Amino acid sequence: MKIKRIAIAGAGVAGISILKFFVNDKRFGKNLEIDIYDAPKTMGRGYAYQHDDDHLVINLPAEEMSLTADSDDYIKWLEKTGHEVKSFTSRRVYGEYMHSTLTSFSDAHDNINIIKKYAENIVFNEESGTYTLRADNVSCDYDAVFLMTGELSYSDPYKLKGDSNYFYNPYPIEDNLKHLTGRIGIIGSGLSAIDSFRYLIRNGHKKVYVLSRSGEMPAVRGTHFDIEPQHFTLEAALQYERDGLIPLEKLLGLFKLEMEAQQVDSSLFERKTDRPEIDLKYDLEHPESVGKLQYLITDLEETFKVLFKYLSRRDKRTFLKEYHPYISGNHSPMPPYGANEILQWIDEGKLVFMHGMESASADNGFTVTFDDGKSEHFDILINATGPVKSIEKDDTKLLQNMYDAMLLEADEFGGVLINKNHEIISPRFGTLENFYTIGALSAGSDYLIRGVGMLASETEDLVNHFFEHGL
Ligand SMILES: Cc1cc2nc3c(=O)[nH]c(=O)nc-3n(C[C@H](O)[C@H](O)[C@H](O)COP(=O)(O)OP(=O)(O)OC[C@H]3O[C@@H](n4cnc5c(N)ncnc54)[C@H](O)[C@@H]3O)c2cc1C
Repeated sequence: MKIKRIAIAGAGVAGISILKFFVNDKRFGKNLEIDIYDAPKTMGRGYAYQHDDDHLVINLPAEEMSLTADSDDYIKWLEKTGHEVKSFTSRRVYGEYMHSTLTSFSDAHDNINIIKKYAENIVFNEESGTYTLRADNVSCDYDAVFLMTGELSYSDPYKLKGDSNYFYNPYPIEDNLKHLTGRIGIIGSGLSAIDSFRYLIRNGHKKVYVLSRSGEMPAVRGTHFDIEPQHFTLEAALQYERDGLIPLEKLLGLFKLEMEAQQVDSSLFERKTDRPEIDLKYDLEHPESVGKLQYLITDLEETFKVLFKYLSRRDKRTFLKEYHPYISGNHSPMPPYGANEILQWIDEGKLVFMHGMESASADNGFTVTFDDGKSEHFDILINATGPVKSIEKDDTKLLQNMYDAMLLEADEFGGVLINKNHEIISPRFGTLENFYTIGALSAGSDYLIRGVGMLASETEDLVNHFFEHGL
């Protein structure tokens, strides 16, 4: 029996889910040898679920977070390990669950090896069709690779990385943002900015400034609705398929019909004024209508994820530029108690939002300028602008090495070029068989696939594909 060697680079949600589908498959046995790589700190936790402040909470209910074949597994694990069983647990506790799941897979199978190292390079050996992965100057050959390295590196829009008192990446928040003193500005107004200012204010900071270009904040979660789609269905959309493409305008037409049928007011898409004190209040005061819109989006997400692959290049561009901001502005909402807390802090003068940010430069602290010509001085800047989208801008060794060697090609819509089976397409070698990726690196092909829910299930297709074609 020839043993096939498999490398999984990255042991976050996606990497562990790949492992889960391997061990739960009846085709899995001693014919496979799996090595899973990650740095010691993030091994089995991923980036989002490291050790950090307990107030950083996951945005999905525990009932939807199982990492094994048993959908109640996370709840049972919480009970068994003496954690409080509640719907929204902290991200740290979820990380412990992930870690213990990974450990139990490797304890149960001596052909699964945990390697606490970062992969530095992966090379394709054209003659043998194998891959060589190098980590810490040790090279190993593999028949298949699952590149599960998650988000690209953090963006640095004002090129301040390396300046003292500039926090290029706020996570882990408890390590980075402890004991800060002085006038603090947070760049960005999304979920990472909220994590950062919540931590600072809860830990005694009297005033924090939130600096952004637009001032738009995430929406507030409204009332839960179960929506049974009547118009925006795969069946209805596929009727418009010609030469493998479906025109965006047809999908927009179906979406409008669905909104009317579900009595969702389309003017809600335009409700945001980009002033948090108005926008958060609006959502809190209209939980029914806002909730209906949010759950309509959530309930159509699975369908749209499939239809996204049928859009032409031009339609994808139009969609991402003109329509995606409306979806993302209503996706991943914050809980109402979080919004109330923010409003209270604005009222008390503890939280000040400044929008129209144009630039930031270092000069004995930092000077931030705004589009009205005014400027402000800060002692500390925290960058909460999130990761870059294009691999050309990523500065991690592994991706840079593979990009430079022309093993990877950037997808103009984010991440890298892949085929419909999630196999990487190299500009030098063509489709790389048995070399898979999903998550942030498949962002150009997979719409909104980065959350736990989708990653934990969609990874099954990759493992199935390997069993059917790679053995
Ligand atoms: C702060 C934060 C909070 C979030 N909260 C939620 C939430 O509440 N709910 C939700 O659904 N989603 C949330 N997300 C989205 C989150 O990205 C996904 O939930 C999920 O963690 C993505 O899984 P992943 O496996 O693709 O990436 P990750 O979980 O980031 O895992 C990738 C792993 O690969 C490792 N890695 C990177 N490079 C290498 C290398 N060269 N060699 C080896 N290993 C490498 C990393 O160290 C990391 O451990 C959050 C994201 C962030 C950043």
